[in-house]
Amino acid sequence: MSEFDYDLFTIGAGSGGVRASRIAAAHGAKVAVAEEHRIGGTCVIRGCVPKKLLVYGSHFAHDLNDAANFGWTIEGARFDWVTMRDHVLADVDRLEIAYTNTLEGHGVERFLERATVTGPNSVRLASGRELTAKYILVSTGAWPVMPDIDGSEHCITSNEVFHLPELPKRVLIQGAGYIAVEFAGIFSSLGAQVTVVNRSDVILRGYDESLRDRLLQATLSKGIEYRFMSPIEKVVKQPDGVLEVTTKGHEPIHVDVVLIATGRQANTAGLGLENAGIELGSQGEIQVDEYSKSSCDSIYAVGDVTNRVQLTPVAIREGQAFADTVFGGTPTTIDYGTIPSAVFSQPPIAAVGLTEAEARQQCAEVRIYSSDFRPMRNTFSDHIERGLYKMIVDDETGKILGLHMIGPDAPEILQAAAIAVKAGLTKADFDATVALHPSMAEELVLMR
Ligand code: NDP
Repeated sequence: MSEFDYDLFTIGAGSGGVRASRIAAAHGAKVAVAEEHRIGGTCVIRGCVPKKLLVYGSHFAHDLNDAANFGWTIEGARFDWVTMRDHVLADVDRLEIAYTNTLEGHGVERFLERATVTGPNSVRLASGRELTAKYILVSTGAWPVMPDIDGSEHCITSNEVFHLPELPKRVLIQGAGYIAVEFAGIFSSLGAQVTVVNRSDVILRGYDESLRDRLLQATLSKGIEYRFMSPIEKVVKQPDGVLEVTTKGHEPIHVDVVLIATGRQANTAGLGLENAGIELGSQGEIQVDEYSKSSCDSIYAVGDVTNRVQLTPVAIREGQAFADTVFGGTPTTIDYGTIPSAVFSQPPIAAVGLTEAEARQQCAEVRIYSSDFRPMRNTFSDHIERGLYKMIVDDETGKILGLHMIGPDAPEILQAAAIAVKAGLTKADFDATVALHPSMAEELVLMR
C-alpha cells in the first residue's frame, strides 16, 4: 500500500496536463486531475481550436467573392454570427467530452474544482478535501493580462470573444501579437471595422521583418487601421452602450467591442506554491529544470505555467516527457530548437528557425533566398495579395537556418518543410528536389 492517495495529482486539465495524466496512468500510476474550468484547457476551450474554426468561417467572405469571378452565382449570401458561434461552441463541447473520455478510459480520476498546493505532497480541493500524492504536476496554463486601463471593465479578452452575442460593427484591439492579428483578420473579414492599437511600432515582434511588413500591407489594404505607439488611455461606456476609447496621441474612437490581447501570464496566483517552497520567475512562472521539475523535488510543472514556449504542441511534449521520465523509467528532455510556429492571420504566416536579423547576428556569412509570387488561387481575386517565402542559409555550409512564409496555406506547407530544416538539410537539398507543379509549395525549391 502506498502512503499516498495517488501516485500523481495533476492540477489543470489542459493540453499538457491531460497528456501527462493519461501517459502516467498508462505507465501504471494511480492518477487524479483537478480542473476548475473545463477539461481541455485554453487550446480546446478558448484558444487554438475555436479560433481556427472562426478563421475558416470568416474566410468564406473572400472565398465567396472569388467564387463569383470563377463563374459562380452567389445569390443572397448572408452571414449569421450566432450560427457560426454556436457551431463552434458545440464543437468545443464535443472536444471536452472527448478529452474527458480519454482521461476516463485511462482510469484518471477527475475533480472538477480548484485545487491548491498545501505541501510537497498534498493538495486541497475547493470543497475542502485534502489529498496526498507522491508527485504533483502543475499545469495550470496562463491567463490573459489585462493592463491597468481606466475603464478596463468594459474590455474583453480572448476568454470572452468566442461568446459575443452579436457580430460587432466596430472593434478595437489592443496588442499586435498572435491573438490581435488573428482576431483582426477574423472580424475584418466578417465586415467589421477593425482598429489595432499597440504600444510599440511593430506587429508580431519576433517574426521576420519581411513577413511582418507584408502582413501589415495586406491588412491595411483590406481596411484594418493601425495606431502605433498609441496604447489605450481610457475606455468610457456611453449611455447607448458605445465604447469611447482614448488612445495616446489620437482623437477618441467609438467602437462596440474592445479586445485586449497583450500577452498571457502564468496562472500561479493563489495556488499555494509557497507551501512547497516553489520558486517563481519574474513573471510569476514556475521555474523548472530540463525535466520540468520545480525547486521542490516532488512537484513538476509543464506548459504555459512555466512560460518556456507558450504553444500547445510544446506543452503536450513536456507532459509526455514528464510522464515518461517520472513513471516510464525513461528520462526525457525536450529539444526546444527549431520549433515551427504559425499565425493564423489573413493571409497566414508560418516560420521555423532563425529570422534574417537573428541569423546575421549569429553567423559570419548569411545568404537570403526568396520567392515573391502571386498565388494561383488569387488569380481572379479582387485583392492582389502576394505570397512571400524566405529562406535564411548559412553561406559557409549551405545549411538552412530559417524558413519564413506568408501566403495561403503557409502553415500547412511549412509543417512538412520544417522537417527538412530540423533535419539540417541544405539549400542544395531543396534545389535537388523537383518542383511539384502547379502549387505554391513548389516555390520552396525554386527560391533564388
Ligand atoms: P503576444 O505576446 O503574442 O503579443 C502581445 C502584444 O501585446 C504585443 O504586440 C505587445 O507589444 C503588446 N503588449 C504586451 N504587453 C503590453 C502592455 N502591458 N501594454 C500594451 N501592450 C502590450 O500575446 P497574445 O496575447 O497575442 O498571445 C499570447 C500567447 O498565446 C502568445 O505569446 C502565443 O504564445 C499564444 N498564442 C499562439 C497562437 C498561435 O500559435 N497561432 C495564437 C494565439 C496565441 P510589443 O510587441 O510592442 O511589445
